[in-house]
Amino acid sequence: MNMRSRRQRKAEKKLRRRKQVLLSVVLGGAALIFFAAWGSSAPTPENLRPPKKAQVSRPTPTPATLRLWIFDQATKEVLANTPVSIGRHFLTTDTSGSAASFGLSPGGVDITARARGYAIHTETLFLESGENTAAIHLKTIALNEASEGVGFGRKAYLTIDDGPSSRWTPKVLDVLRREKVPATFFLVGRRATRQPDLVRRIYLEGHEVGNHTYSHSYRELYGGSSQNLLDSLSRNGEILASILGFSPSIWRPPGGARGNLRSDWESRVRASGYVTVLWNVSSGDGSTQTTSRQMVKNTIDYLDRLGPKDNAIILMHDIRAPIVTALPKIIAETRRRGFQFAGVEDKTRVRDLISGR
Ligand SMILES: [Zn+2]
Repeated sequence: MNMRSRRQRKAEKKLRRRKQVLLSVVLGGAALIFFAAWGSSAPTPENLRPPKKAQVSRPTPTPATLRLWIFDQATKEVLANTPVSIGRHFLTTDTSGSAASFGLSPGGVDITARARGYAIHTETLFLESGENTAAIHLKTIALNEASEGVGFGRKAYLTIDDGPSSRWTPKVLDVLRREKVPATFFLVGRRATRQPDLVRRIYLEGHEVGNHTYSHSYRELYGGSSQNLLDSLSRNGEILASILGFSPSIWRPPGGARGNLRSDWESRVRASGYVTVLWNVSSGDGSTQTTSRQMVKNTIDYLDRLGPKDNAIILMHDIRAPIVTALPKIIAETRRRGFQFAGVEDKTRVRDLISGR
């Protein structure tokens, strides 16, 4: 009995020890698996700290979405492809006259809408979080109708070449806005691509935009075949279309046509859909030596030599200082002679503009 029970106890003890070993192996393995799974998020002094209060839950403000519809005030028809600026965001309405701008901050925003043949519309809207809608009605009034006196039927086209310039173009635009005068900007592609906001501002403020080639390099444009010129025009057209939604058909040859365009080039350019716009009044500011006083004098001299029925196409540049001082005086002298200002529209008759120079 004793012998048996001692053997039995020994066996039980052995069994208990085996169980303990087995249990510790199982527990050890489980612990290994647990720590392996925890792995990367194993506690470190850093993430054992309680979360900061600010991280717990502070609702982030919902950005505003603005949906706009643009209508003709008189007919109530929607206006398609209308450029709209909302603060520093730029949009174009679709064919149903609507546009949506996402991710705006709630609060006041300035809206500018402009369609060809309509007065520029500006207003300030207050945006709330989430979605706001607005309907904008544009008036069909020419830009300078209210500000002009009785004209004698003659038009003056201010044409401003070689920009946009971040330094001078905004100042020129400020003068034109103050004087309520539309102009036509012949833009250089390599400059336009660096200043898309300025290109939009020109157009949104009611001015016309023309193509003045991508490079403005006489050697590149006129030194080889006419294809170089056409390539530079289409490259600029693509840049302007990416900014404004259209590629202008009016263009001006850098340096003018005479001495630059060879015999059949003008017809080749015209066959590609471009309308050439030259000038018959020069302010002379193509030269870096010309002062603002000389610009005014040159312009007056040319204006007074025009025939009694001639329109004036006035050449200026917005890449140097003199235009800023000269422009208000040139506008006043041109008005005093009975001209009414207009932008050169793509539909302007080719022959009227090309003849003369
Ligand atoms: Zn030029």
